[in-house]
Amino acid sequence: MIRVIVWGFGEMGKGIVENILSKKSVLELVGVIDVKPDLVEKDAGLLLGKEKIGIRVSSNPEKLLDEANPDIVILSTNSFVENVLPQIEMIIKKHINLITIAEEMAYPFHTHPEESSLIDSLAKRYGATVLGTGINPGFVLDTLIITLTAVCKKVKKIKARRVNDLSPFGPTVMKTQGVGTTVEEFYKGLEKGEIVGHIGFEQSINMIADALGWKLEKIEEIREPIVSKVQRETKYVEVKPGMVAGCKHVGKGYLNGEIVIELEHPQQIRPELENVETGDYICIEGEPDINLSIKPEIPGGTGTIAMAVNMIPMVVEHKPGFYSMKDFPIPRCLNI
Ligand code: NAD
Repeated sequence: MIRVIVWGFGEMGKGIVENILSKKSVLELVGVIDVKPDLVEKDAGLLLGKEKIGIRVSSNPEKLLDEANPDIVILSTNSFVENVLPQIEMIIKKHINLITIAEEMAYPFHTHPEESSLIDSLAKRYGATVLGTGINPGFVLDTLIITLTAVCKKVKKIKARRVNDLSPFGPTVMKTQGVGTTVEEFYKGLEKGEIVGHIGFEQSINMIADALGWKLEKIEEIREPIVSKVQRETKYVEVKPGMVAGCKHVGKGYLNGEIVIELEHPQQIRPELENVETGDYICIEGEPDINLSIKPEIPGGTGTIAMAVNMIPMVVEHKPGFYSMKDFPIPRCLNI
């Protein structure tokens, strides 16, 4: 049995807890951490709308990590290295393994070299294994692409696209993607850093480049508004024709002056209203050329929840240190 704590009981954390509870023959949930007053001290099972499980949400990680004796923590609190670093340090220093879905942690070795080597050296010193994963970054636009290159004798260029539907997401995502703004507000939001588009292009591009031995000169990112021609609505936002329905975000990696990796992630609400089909598409130019098309998109929420849990046994068994998805055995479903 692997003893697991979930730190961050939001949309993803709740799904991760449910998934862990469905695998009782291998995984034992031994704690849940969050700071939200409406969650703290309540039974995690009841909060999920299910039966009581006898685990109350704790707001005291220091105490819970000492008392519950977990083998691993799943960290689902935040996207950015800067914000999760103190949590990661605390977990490692208690000799506990860790999987995080923080987008920047999927591959921070180039973007945050100092923090990455600190995490790696602490992990080795305290005998813990650390992995950043998720649906994207973590799988669709990096791990899956890298895996596909295994059947190529040579790779010249990679172009991939994840076209998704933002409709199920809440107000935070609408804000960071600029949904419901005017075009002018969208560009202002980009300038102020309030609208960011996708988090993870630099991570995915660097992971692919390192796997293929490409020393990139630069990574460029372009964010553009997806301007709606029609009226679109979700529970949280209304978009009139001429307003912004989402963000088309492109990341490009350059080698010898040429683009060798191009990732595109147009994210919008109600794409079907303009006949946009969702999907994940990977084109590898090489020997041979490879074209993969997954329609509709792999669902982001379920995919993230599954990845975080499926990687648990592999992380627990891995040698100590800070690793990425490209360093692990082929990921697979913990199919029990
Ligand atoms: P969310 O906002 O619904 O949940 C986050 C939860 O963490 C909240 O309940 C919050 O109270 C809690 N939290 C935050 N800081 C905390 C702290 N210091 N101590 C205890 N609890 C804390 O977000 P979500 O949808 O569950 O996603 C979690 C994170 O994972 C986000 O940053 C999201 O962008 C990221 N994510 C990554 C991927 C991926 O593919 N890599 C996919 C989905 C989500």
